[in-house]
Amino acid sequence: MDKTSEEIRHDFPALDQMVNQAPLAYLDNAATSQRPAPVLKTVEDFYFHDNANVHRGVHTLAQRATDRYEQARETVRQFLGAESPTEIIFTKGCTEALNLVASSYGMSQIQAGDEIVISIQEHHSNLIPWQQLAIQKGAILKYIDLTDEGEIDLTDAQEKITDQTKLVAINHASNVMGTITPLKTLVELAHQKGAVVVADGAQAVLHEPVNVRDLDVDFYALSGHKMLAPMGIGVLYGKASLLEKMPPYQYGGEMISRVQRQESSWAQAPYKFEAGTQNVAGAIGLAAAIDYLNNLSWGWIQQQESDLIQYATQELKKVDGLKLYGPKEAQRRSGVFSFNLGQIHPHDVATALDMAGVAVRAGHHCAQPLMDYLGVPATVRASFAFYNTKAEVDQLVTDLQATKEFFDHGA
Ligand code: PMP
Repeated sequence: MDKTSEEIRHDFPALDQMVNQAPLAYLDNAATSQRPAPVLKTVEDFYFHDNANVHRGVHTLAQRATDRYEQARETVRQFLGAESPTEIIFTKGCTEALNLVASSYGMSQIQAGDEIVISIQEHHSNLIPWQQLAIQKGAILKYIDLTDEGEIDLTDAQEKITDQTKLVAINHASNVMGTITPLKTLVELAHQKGAVVVADGAQAVLHEPVNVRDLDVDFYALSGHKMLAPMGIGVLYGKASLLEKMPPYQYGGEMISRVQRQESSWAQAPYKFEAGTQNVAGAIGLAAAIDYLNNLSWGWIQQQESDLIQYATQELKKVDGLKLYGPKEAQRRSGVFSFNLGQIHPHDVATALDMAGVAVRAGHHCAQPLMDYLGVPATVRASFAFYNTKAEVDQLVTDLQATKEFFDHGA
């Protein structure tokens, strides 16, 4: 990597602006990251020069578009350490990838009385598809609890994953608790019982290198927009042996082998799961985001983040009345900080911060069962990426202190 942190920050045009007369501190990266100029240029370049539909045309533009799309699949394969590009399915996001597994694998493989195990900290995208599958199939949905520190309780996981368990669906990193899931341990536990594991990687992929073969995970879902790529593109990795036996998820053009009046047969994976015109520019943009991350190097990204996490953990403790959820020690945290500030409503805190240029999220973060479990209706969430700075942590802390002061004593 031959750029300074300052130069890297300048790669992200949206970060360089004033919001409500203050410099923007974008701390809502768990909702969506910003995109660097090389990704934006790649997408623009595709539409300016190579735009054509893929796999269908013999003309030059169609060839170029197809080559770039399939090259993007290969880039994702390398990024995830998958064995074959046929294991990489493009989707519109993590939500669609998880729904694909629930509809196709779940509907064909789960039977009445089977157990599906998820955790209490799942995003609705990795909860409702399993809940609805369980309802439709008469299967049993079980939840792994958290420890007092907000981490996955492995003792509870050991009890919940039984010989009846057919599928475990778990996030790789929480979008609320600021924790990383011990995914490899859970995969081992599940495999001992003969269950497959579906990992929701939405919050992990911008923060650590993922190797699906090392994890031995059966399915891995991610969203491009949370890792510097455009919105509307995502990925489902699935082991070839599983994808082979799964029925299509949607029907239409591109996913067929032969169509007759009364019956049809299907293409091989991954095309069997990519019905209709795909988000080609999105896939190419995702590959550009991966190239960008690889050029920065994971060592540098992780060092940058761990410095920020260390500093934010230390500084947030100084805010009077702030209750932080999840682990107290920085070494066990990710860059997601969920908290409440005294009795002030989280939306009021987020609005006050916005007035000072600080972008955070407030609400249930698409994790209502987790909010019930924590006994709160909502939290404020500040979430960091490698391009954030300690000055932005200071801006957050100063404005939280001012907000508390204002609500306690008035203007
Ligand atoms: N899982 C987790 C943990 C998430 O944080 C999100 C996005 N907030 C999703 C799944 C869903 O991702 P998308 O909306 O991009 O499909």
